[in-house]
Amino acid sequence: MREWKVGERIALAADVHCGECHFCRRGIYNMCDDLRILGKHLSGALADYMLLSRDILDRGIIHRVPQGLKTLHAALSEPLSSVLASHDELAIASGETVVILAAGPWASCTSSS
Ligand SMILES: [Zn+2]
Repeated sequence: MREWKVGERIALAADVHCGECHFCRRGIYNMCDDLRILGKHLSGALADYMLLSRDILDRGIIHRVPQGLKTLHAALSEPLSSVLASHDELAIASGETVVILAAGPWASCTSSS
């Protein structure tokens, strides 16, 4: 169990995985059998402050925000890191043309499941 302090600044990904299923054990958290999304399955998101449950604190993808890092920059760290990780995974080089076929997080927030 990770320990957090009340009022501590954190950067939090919107997805909360179970940590125990076939996919989580392999680090493929976005395929989790029990994936839950903040703002869809769990209360919260798009607010200045959030009260996080023990479950989210234990299972969420959370990083402490370093002192001196502006809150705006910390808020952008999760979406930016997703973009950078995708670039690394695909080995996209400068000047290459890329087509993105997806609706992004909106799709997961509006699906009927
Ligand atoms: Zn899982």
